[in-house]
Amino acid sequence: MPVKNRFAELLPEITEWRRDLHENPEILFETHRTSAIVAEKLEAFGCDEIVTGIGRTGVVAVIKGKSDTSGKVIGLRADMDALPIHEQTGLEYASKTDGAMHACGHDGHTAMLLGAAKYLSETRNFDGTVVVIFQPAEEGGGGGKEMCDDGMMERFGIQEVYGMHNWPGKPVGSFAIRPGAFFAATDTFEITFEGIGGHAAKPNETVDTLVMASQTVMTLQTIASRNADPVDQIVVSVTSIESSSKAFNVIPQRVTIRGTVRTLSKDMRALAEKRVTEICNGTAATFGGSADVNYILGYPVMVNSEDQTAFAAEVAASISGDCADAPLVMGGEDFAFMLEERPGAYILVGNGDTAMVHHPEYNFNDDAIPAGCSWWAEIVEQRMPAG
Ligand SMILES: [Zn+2]
Ligand SMILES: [Zn+2]
Repeated sequence: MPVKNRFAELLPEITEWRRDLHENPEILFETHRTSAIVAEKLEAFGCDEIVTGIGRTGVVAVIKGKSDTSGKVIGLRADMDALPIHEQTGLEYASKTDGAMHACGHDGHTAMLLGAAKYLSETRNFDGTVVVIFQPAEEGGGGGKEMCDDGMMERFGIQEVYGMHNWPGKPVGSFAIRPGAFFAATDTFEITFEGIGGHAAKPNETVDTLVMASQTVMTLQTIASRNADPVDQIVVSVTSIESSSKAFNVIPQRVTIRGTVRTLSKDMRALAEKRVTEICNGTAATFGGSADVNYILGYPVMVNSEDQTAFAAEVAASISGDCADAPLVMGGEDFAFMLEERPGAYILVGNGDTAMVHHPEYNFNDDAIPAGCSWWAEIVEQRMPAG
């Protein structure tokens, strides 16, 4: 089965929505215009219930099928936020806002789920209930977590939940997925070393924070090489080092290092936090100073459920003939919080040969819309077939 004909018909309209969103990007929870447009369209489609203000600027709508003998409730989620990047695509519908850009394709995600909501509201060709979820602040703000914290899953009785992300480098409209851990937990740390500053020509009278910090940067690499099981993946990257002095002849009183840790299991995540803390405190003590360790837990590991993943892959294959095995991704994804609350699956849809997401020349590929919309609609119609 190829893409649904209705989405070929709707393509110009959905493309127009997508490009309007692209031109007007909004960051984190500031998706006020976007959320208003989403709510307005869902209203116009005739959704049965529309609720705004879930997870601050999140929008949720309910679409009931022709019948509800199954009692099933499926959540479909798209993200709406843009990134703080200055766009360099030169497109005629490029961002009108300096320093904000839809560089991750969430404009496309929102437009595709709106397209599916329009189709599902028109046809209602399923036995159960669909909940469409539009979340803000996927890019580091934890908007999905806030929607969950607002009780979204319970309030709408969501039983399973699905997500989708476009993927540059994969053929347009093709799909890829994997069961189990898929996207990494993304934690960060900020460590401030405190010593005794002084004259660089008299290091014996100081406690050198730069030596502590430098030693720590190297020792942190042994978490991956010496503490982690070699078959498990982990990334520890120190990304910034900042001294309280910029002088050539001063040993700084304080040095701060920052970085990120990416892991793919709860055990590895806990191990990394423990070892970062021990190494920083231990190294500081070795040189006679102290460390203030601020370890910040970000998005958890995103884990696809076995059953829903197999089903999602089957649906994808029914649309594009095949569904590839996706590789592990060491980036993070806020949808992880929704998958912690309910079983479900997250799939990648090919964006073709474009710049990578988060690049200033990236653009969502509108040619992916029919496949993406069809996947949403088929998830519903195949999971909750009409009687
Ligand atoms: Zn992104
Ligand atoms: Zn994204």
